[in-house]
Amino acid sequence: MSQHDQTLDDTTTSPGLGLYTMLARLRPLRSYGSKILLVAFVGTHVPLLALLAYFIISASLTVEATVRVLVVALAATLAGAVATMVALHHLLAPISLTSKGLRSYLDTKNLPSLPTRFTDEAGTLMADTSHTVGSLDRLVRYLESFDDLTGLPNRSLFTTRLAAILSERDDADMVALIVLDIDRFKAVNDGLGREAGDMLLRAVSQRLTTSLGDAAVLARTGADEFALADPTAGSLNAVIDRCDAMLALLDRPFTVDGRQIHVSASAGITVAPLDESAVDELLQHAETALYQAKGAGGGSYQLYSADMNARLQERLTIERDLRHALVRDELVVYYQPRVDPRLGTIVGVEALVRWQHPVRGLVSPAEFIPLAEENGLIIEIGEWVLRTACAQQRVWHNAGLTGVRVSVNLSCRQFRQDKLVEMVAVVMGDTGVQPDCLELEVTESLLMDDVARGTETLKRLRDLGITLALDDFGTGYSSLSYLRRLPIDTLKIDRSFVAGITLDAADAAIVDVIIALARTLHLSVTAEGVETRGQLDYLKTRGCDEIQGYFYSPAQPAAAITTLLSAGLPVDQVA
Ligand code: C2E
Ligand code: CA
Ligand code: CA
Repeated sequence: MSQHDQTLDDTTTSPGLGLYTMLARLRPLRSYGSKILLVAFVGTHVPLLALLAYFIISASLTVEATVRVLVVALAATLAGAVATMVALHHLLAPISLTSKGLRSYLDTKNLPSLPTRFTDEAGTLMADTSHTVGSLDRLVRYLESFDDLTGLPNRSLFTTRLAAILSERDDADMVALIVLDIDRFKAVNDGLGREAGDMLLRAVSQRLTTSLGDAAVLARTGADEFALADPTAGSLNAVIDRCDAMLALLDRPFTVDGRQIHVSASAGITVAPLDESAVDELLQHAETALYQAKGAGGGSYQLYSADMNARLQERLTIERDLRHALVRDELVVYYQPRVDPRLGTIVGVEALVRWQHPVRGLVSPAEFIPLAEENGLIIEIGEWVLRTACAQQRVWHNAGLTGVRVSVNLSCRQFRQDKLVEMVAVVMGDTGVQPDCLELEVTESLLMDDVARGTETLKRLRDLGITLALDDFGTGYSSLSYLRRLPIDTLKIDRSFVAGITLDAADAAIVDVIIALARTLHLSVTAEGVETRGQLDYLKTRGCDEIQGYFYSPAQPAAAITTLLSAGLPVDQVA
């Protein structure tokens, strides 16, 4: 049954709708007005028809007189009918207004403006419609503006309220915008289930709500993101205290589903008028700061600054370009000599990657390695550097430049990758590098998470016949007890200590201790970042085994190193 038929059927059962139903069946009378007009027309023509019938039956007038009377009667009836129809049309206005108003509300969400002062049926129809639609509209808007889960305003309502707060702000008033996000919320969702995740969000929202002042607005602006607009912030210090307090509030354990859960949160802060932006941008800025806080490891806040935005933009472009750098062959490996200070000759080189960017020129690894580490590209890049360096070692070997040890840096993520040892073995096999001429450099921080597992990985790498160096030594939490058990061959003294040896007694003392320590543990020592003759002389007298630094040579392309190696002379004597 079509919807149209059903409507007609329903109406036949409703009392009083018989005539209406009958007329509704007549197709030309689709509009309500036409039905009324038909009835009015027929009604006003009854006298004329009665007159006509009387004349026919009685035959009391001449034909001529009959015609005349009929014409006059017809004209009078028509005039009456027209006047009736016009009047009825006006009387029907409440109904058509109500109908149009409702239709336009459904189509455009504009509330109908209907008069409410009339008290008859048509008047109450208009008044009741106006009242009902108004209440419905408020309900719909409420449902659309609030988050189901927490009952807090959602993002759209939050921006409206924030706009209102900002427009009411006096020039001197400070409005704080804090965006807060739960760290590793996904792990809670994945580990304990969505329901537990939902409970946690509700609990978080409750805790945050209890800490609010009257004028502040708290909202849920994303899955696990909350935003607070506070027009009574006062000072920047007060905002920071406030933010600290909120983070501390979430630091206390939550009981979810009978279980205790520990979470931390990160926050991004921006403050008007220091940040004179429109509402959407303000929110974006606080989120940029939040993103930074997350990047710094979570559990803390960041204040937004304009150059943070610029840095973020820059970072996003670098990240996008870096994804193509490998396929477009834009990465190159430079090699920095490691020199035996007694002979001045090269005993090894450290492979240091560079990015030959089509627009930016040569980009330092300090700029893109941390990024690649974050997004995982380091796995591919690291393997490529290892393969290139090993192949280069083989090229030197084949050219008669034998025994040049090549060392390659391993980052944290690379070190933790499951198939690291297998990958290194495959690369060694593929390139034919001599195992005793390959060294991998790792840092202490890389071992800290899980010393046992890290030590195991190092052992397996060493079983491949390669040597291992502990890079940037002295900057981490060197613990002598574990150092003794680590399967490593070399300590590389961090360049920050080397820089101070001739100036700062403390730095010199640290370097002395590291060298003595290496002696005791039967490890070799390399000093990095040696730039001056003074530094070199000091290290030489202390018995440092190898020297790396600008004093001898910066990192250079393979061809330049080949020239140095071929000369077979002390590096500082090659013209
Ligand atoms: P690093 O392993 O500590 O490398 C030594 C850095 O010190 C290099 O910077 C080198 O150019 C620089 N350097 C050498 N001699 C001197 C000197 O006399 N004075 C000063 N001030 N600096 C000197 P670079 O090449 O910019 O590399 C920076 C860092 O990037 C490296 O630090 C390393 O941690 C990372 N890196 C570079 N290549 C790779 C790679 O292939 N894989 C991984 N995972 N990390 C890499
Ligand atoms: Ca290194
Ligand atoms: Ca280093």
